[in-house]
Amino acid sequence: MKVCLDPGHGGRDPGACVAGVSEAGINLSVARLTAGRLRDARCETLLTREIDVYRSLGDRAAEANDWGADLFLSIHCNWAVSDAASGFEVWTSRGDTGADWFATLLFTTLQGEFPSSPARADYGDGDPDKERDLTVLVRTGMPAVLIELGFLSNSSERAALRNVDIQDRFAAALARGVLLGVGGPETGGPGAVCEARHARLLEQLRVISGQLSGLLREF
Ligand SMILES: [Zn+2]
Repeated sequence: MKVCLDPGHGGRDPGACVAGVSEAGINLSVARLTAGRLRDARCETLLTREIDVYRSLGDRAAEANDWGADLFLSIHCNWAVSDAASGFEVWTSRGDTGADWFATLLFTTLQGEFPSSPARADYGDGDPDKERDLTVLVRTGMPAVLIELGFLSNSSERAALRNVDIQDRFAAALARGVLLGVGGPETGGPGAVCEARHARLLEQLRVISGQLSGLLREF
């Protein structure tokens, strides 16, 4: 399983900035922590940026495509004019996409980890994700989801988002969502992700070799 993590913003684009706290740094920290947890579960991970550097949205999507990611997860923090706005959001591109199941899983694991944080859902189409044709969601060729962890414009959420222990809880929730989606630790041990992939490949090889020997007999 290859999971591309996309820490939003970076470099000359700090993202939302409030009281000296910028979104880009929090996004990168949570992405690194999530990648660590996924690697522990024997997933391959790629970060679209490893440091505080600017990358265009198109480049991020292209890198995920070129690498052959199975899942794409963009990590952001939110901002609103009202400092009362709070809670997390999960976004996919418009309509029924291949990412809806992934978004619902992530929504569920975030809700489980932070039961008191408002889950800002849109059940208009039957599932909790919000929908918008964001560049990294429409240009990626695999299930792609964007997470808004919380609001930097809300002082208590801002303090929480800066806290490394809380960042690690976000990472735990995101990694759990990814792994649940592919039969990870919760459904059969840390190796289940790779084992399932290998089993599929072996089955495909078996079918192909059967077809080949049939062809050779005819020849
Ligand atoms: Zn952002």
